[in-house]
Amino acid sequence: MPLQRSVVRNFLDAPRLTSADLSMVFLMREDDDTRPRPMPTLTVREVPETVRALESLGVKSVKIFAGSRVRDARASQGISPIGLMSRAIAAAKKTAPDVLVMTETCVCSHTDSGECWLTDERGGMDLSQTIVNLTVQAVMQADAGADIVGPAAMISGSVRAVREALDSAGHKAVGIMPHLIFESSLYQGYRQSMGAVPRSGTRAFQIDPGRPERAVHVAREMVDEGADAILTEPALHTVDTLVHLKDKIPVPLVPFSVSGEYLRLTDCRDDGRRDVKGLIEAYTVLKRAGASRVITYGALDIARELRTS
Ligand SMILES: [Zn+2]
Repeated sequence: MPLQRSVVRNFLDAPRLTSADLSMVFLMREDDDTRPRPMPTLTVREVPETVRALESLGVKSVKIFAGSRVRDARASQGISPIGLMSRAIAAAKKTAPDVLVMTETCVCSHTDSGECWLTDERGGMDLSQTIVNLTVQAVMQADAGADIVGPAAMISGSVRAVREALDSAGHKAVGIMPHLIFESSLYQGYRQSMGAVPRSGTRAFQIDPGRPERAVHVAREMVDEGADAILTEPALHTVDTLVHLKDKIPVPLVPFSVSGEYLRLTDCRDDGRRDVKGLIEAYTVLKRAGASRVITYGALDIARELRTS
C-alpha cells in the first residue's frame, strides 16, 4: 500500500533536484551587438539583475563564456584585462560576492580560426604558446574575481601550467575545473552564438565516443596536474562515463548540459519562456548518477519551476 503521509514520503524519497544543484550559463555579448544567435545571451549591463534573480532563487553559481569581437591568430584580445570576460566576472562578483563565478579559459572565442590552439609561423599547432595564453587568461580571470577557471582546450600540461601561474600570481585559493569533452553534434548552438566554429571542422583533442577509456585516462591526467573538479560534456551522452569516473576519480564531477541538449529538451511556451520540465527530468538522472552540480542554460527557469512545483 502506498504511503499516504507526505511527511513520511518526503523522508523516504531520494533527494530531489534543487536550485543549489544548478549553475547558470552566461554567454556574454557586447551591448551594441545585436546579431541574432541560437542561444540566449547576456550583456554586462544585464549581469547584476540576473545574478540577483539567481541568488534569490537559490542558484549559487554561474559559468561565464565570453569572446572577443576583434580576433587574430594570437588570440590577443582573450588576455585583455578590460575584455568582455573580465567585465562580466567583475559585474557578477560585485553584485553578489557569495555567488561562485566559474569561467571558460580557452582561445577559440578569440582566434580568427575559431580553433582551441594557436599556430606557429608555418601554420602548425603551437601548443606551448597556446598554454602560455591560457595561463595569462586564467590569471586575468582570477584578478577580475573568478573563483574557478576552466581550461577547455584539453591540451596535456595546460592544467598544471594554469595551477603554477595562479599560484605564482597569489591566487592559490582559485580552483581549476578543466573540461572533459566528448566529440558531439550538440555544440553547434554554442559555437554559432560565440563565433567559435573551428575552421578545421573538428576539435583536435576531444574524446571519440567510441573510446570511453580515453576519458578515464585524460581525467586522471587532469587530476594529477591539479584539477579540483572536472566538467564533463555533453551531459546526457556521457552519463555512463560519469558513473565510471565517480569510482575512479577523487574530485567532484560536474556535467555541462550543452546547447543542443537545452534546445532539444525544452519547448517554447506562449509567454516566450521555455518549458524546462524535460531538463528537470534529465538533471535528476545526472544527480542520481553522481553529478555534484549541473551547469545549464536553463538554471534560472528551472529554479522558478522548482519553486512553484
Ligand atoms: Zn576552445
